Amino acid sequence: QAKACGRNTYRFHDPAVQAAWSARAELESGLRRALRDNEFVLHYQPQLDRSSRVIGAEALLRWRLPSGKLLYPSEFIQATEESGLIIDIGRWVLQTACAELARWQRWPDTAGLTLSVNVSASQFTEPDFVPMLQQIFEETGVQPSGLKLELTESLVVSDFTHTAHTMSTLKQRGISFSLDDFGTGYSSLAYLRKLPLDQLKIDHSFMRDVLTDQNDASIVRSIIALGDSLGLQVIAEGVETPGQRQFLSDAGCFIYQGFLYQHALSAEHFTQYARMVH
Ligand code: C2E
Ligand code: MG
Ligand code: MG
Ligand code: MG
Repeated sequence: QAKACGRNTYRFHDPAVQAAWSARAELESGLRRALRDNEFVLHYQPQLDRSSRVIGAEALLRWRLPSGKLLYPSEFIQATEESGLIIDIGRWVLQTACAELARWQRWPDTAGLTLSVNVSASQFTEPDFVPMLQQIFEETGVQPSGLKLELTESLVVSDFTHTAHTMSTLKQRGISFSLDDFGTGYSSLAYLRKLPLDQLKIDHSFMRDVLTDQNDASIVRSIIALGDSLGLQVIAEGVETPGQRQFLSDAGCFIYQGFLYQHALSAEHFTQYARMVH
């Protein structure tokens, strides 16, 4: 527990707790600086169809430290959620993604691509979320029909009525929705049927051993069958080998994202890649 040592100063008796506490405080002030000094970047991981044509990308957040080191979401995204900074960072992500998508939409080779953006639960349930997006659409001139929001099962389950309502409002503006990390959460089939979803995204944890683990193989086949019967597109993430890709197409999944094709690329490299293989 903390003990007051004069004004605004606290010391922890346990050095490990003290260390963890100051590491977190440092991370949070780093995240504030990152927002202010523009240290965040979006990278774009291609999504391909069965003919290996690029049909879109997922925007993935990275943090470029002043030292040049690149940090991945696993190193900081939880801290952004817990500190509430995810609201401002998430707005930056949407602004940047929509500005990039608007650029794609101005060129024939990239005009039809879809850009998927991860949205965290606290962001999506903010009362301001819809007007904020609307403002971004106006500022960037983007066609919202190219934008896909990736939501997680926990969001859907935690506040079904509000989530469903916000989703249908945005759906009327032309946005589409993907359920990310599908199969790892607790969403029931009743929920799925009632939401205006467009896509299920098979979590990469099922892909890893899909060729050797019968359970994973069954789960992946079931997700694909479920998507088909609900009229939803199914995409697999974490596709790393030709064998996994073969498994997926045999099972009826024809949209892929993973290291087999490309890692997430800078905006510039993604556009070059998309022009090459469109
Ligand atoms: P996610 O949305 O499930 O994104 C997919 C993750 O899988 C990405 O990790 C991607 O780089 C990684 N991946 C792609 N292909 C492969 C593959 O073939 N094999 C394997 N093993 N992994 C692959 P990343 O970029 O580190 O992002 C991790 C998570 O952080 C994302 O998971 C997402 O939940 C979150 N995230 C990323 N960007 C944002 C953002 O802008 N906002 C929010 N709220 N969350 C974000
Ligand atoms: Mg995602
Ligand atoms: Mg995912
Ligand atoms: Mg994931």
